[in-house]
Amino acid sequence: MKAILFTHSHDDHTGGSRAFPGAALYALNPHRRDGAGQSAWNRIQGGRAGTESGAGGRRELRLLEDGEVLDLHGDRIEVFGIPGHTYDSCAYLAFGGLFMGDSAAGTFNGRMGSAPPFVSVDRKMNQAGLKRLAARLGGRGGEVRYLAFGHQGPIPGLGPLLEWSASH
Ligand SMILES: [Zn+2]
Ligand SMILES: [Zn+2]
Repeated sequence: MKAILFTHSHDDHTGGSRAFPGAALYALNPHRRDGAGQSAWNRIQGGRAGTESGAGGRRELRLLEDGEVLDLHGDRIEVFGIPGHTYDSCAYLAFGGLFMGDSAAGTFNGRMGSAPPFVSVDRKMNQAGLKRLAARLGGRGGEVRYLAFGHQGPIPGLGPLLEWSASH
């Protein structure tokens, strides 16, 4: 079984899902709704005529909760809600990587920055979420071999997240 775990609803992070019509789809349950996010999920599920329904018909999107741990055929995936870039933004800890989508960014000097300003719904919410994430993962550095982002290469270890948190 294939599974796609969305970090958030922006088109540049969801558009490729149509190439895997049989995949199970997962995303964070947003506790605050906005029109753009909802219409993106509708498109992904093929919920409206003329969108992405294709031959497979309507696809089910399973909504995840912050703190949930998924067991996908033996692969353990932990879900961390980080609303702020979008209200449905989250990170996944899986296979030794912390996959953060656009909730954070790698910088040229190997450090971590918060979400990009112009395309984020609430930067203060994003930064508060990153600080919460750092507090929750602080003692688990051994489990995080790298931080992965949507638009930059990965950077090693949990350290850059903890350092960002300590200086903000
Ligand atoms: Zn993006
Ligand atoms: Zn984005």
